Amino acid sequence: MSATEPLPGTSDLWEPEVFDWIELENAAREIFHRYGYIEVRTPIIERTEVFTHNLGETTDVVQKEMYAFEDRGGRHLTLRPEGTAGVIRAIANRGLEQGDECRAFYFGPMFRGERPAAGRRRQFHQIGVEAVGNNSPWMDAECIAMLMHFLETVGAGGGRLLINTRGLPEDRPSINAALTEYFTPHISCMCEDCQRRLSTNVSRILDCKNPACQEIINGAPDIASLMGEESRKYFDNVCASLTNLGVAFEVTPRLVRGLDYYVHTVFEVTHAGLGGNDALAGGGRYQITPPGMKGVVEGIGYACGIERLLMVRASNVVKAAGSTDIDVAIVCLGDAAVPEGLKLAQSLRHQLPGLRIKADFSARSMKAQMRTANKVGAKKVLILGENELAQGVVVCKNMADSSQVTVPLTEVATALA
Ligand code: AMP
Repeated sequence: MSATEPLPGTSDLWEPEVFDWIELENAAREIFHRYGYIEVRTPIIERTEVFTHNLGETTDVVQKEMYAFEDRGGRHLTLRPEGTAGVIRAIANRGLEQGDECRAFYFGPMFRGERPAAGRRRQFHQIGVEAVGNNSPWMDAECIAMLMHFLETVGAGGGRLLINTRGLPEDRPSINAALTEYFTPHISCMCEDCQRRLSTNVSRILDCKNPACQEIINGAPDIASLMGEESRKYFDNVCASLTNLGVAFEVTPRLVRGLDYYVHTVFEVTHAGLGGNDALAGGGRYQITPPGMKGVVEGIGYACGIERLLMVRASNVVKAAGSTDIDVAIVCLGDAAVPEGLKLAQSLRHQLPGLRIKADFSARSMKAQMRTANKVGAKKVLILGENELAQGVVVCKNMADSSQVTVPLTEVATALA
């Protein structure tokens, strides 16, 4: 690496890209103002305890990823790894009386000492919001709807909204006990991180992306079923409210998100246009006690990665502008496959707005449909027959080299991205 290059996981940003960032921030500002949020700019550097106190001492962000150091005066300081803890500190500093509300948004750099990879940076930037002092499921639904409205408006729509509940702190002991009982006999086959989490933070195991751990995690008890009536009712209201607002979502029982401060609703937006690190935005309801404050501050918020948002936006622009070629043709074999093909095409158009997709409803032979796919220049062909329908999969054929793979229906968008 030459001495003039920026550090790995960081980059220099010049015009004209700078204009994209300004435009994005202005669009966010305009939308968040319409929902009654105001802008806040907090310092990039904070006392370390602002983060350790609230994110949880045993979370990955605190244990492995924080840029923490001691300054010349012996003070423990940290470059902020996320926005919520600092914004809540700022709200507390401004003074928040019982019953007061504050809804704020922010932009800015965050720092995490992660191993750099595509879409994973050490300095990245987030657009985030926090709404504190309003503890109701309707607030959660509105906040999430605002995120989806924002993403759609800036050309980053097409993501999947995954939601779940963490319940209340009083639900944790029974959840942790059930998870510990389930994972203990399997733990020797799981990764080192999961082995550590078994005793430090067992629900975090549910977040592990390691394929070997995933198989075991799939059989774990559903945490919502272990929660009390109040938590389940809260979550039902969030879901009903989102449906009322016309926001599409998927309840994802294994979604817990990394930090300890979450209660009730947690959510993530993933986007197939991002490939492996497919999280575009994430957040949830939290309870935080800012250092030096006695009471708990409850709120809901989320953050969206700006670099990833710009990647999604680029992938959403139809790539083949000027060409009439089809990117994906869907071959439907048999009467039952036709309505499924129609549904798959529609769902893929939402998830991958950059692609041209055509499903064949003619119910002709495989050979005839493949001939048509060839004629329209399809780069990929998805084959949906009776066997595939029964197994919930689709065969994905790459027309360039005739190779083919079988993909679960829920993962087709990722395979095509
Ligand atoms: P998190 O606070 O980890 O939920 O992150 C919220 C959002 O910030 C993610 O959905 C990503 O869009 C973005 N993000 C988080 N970590 C990184 C990273 N290391 N590099 C780039 N973007 C990131």
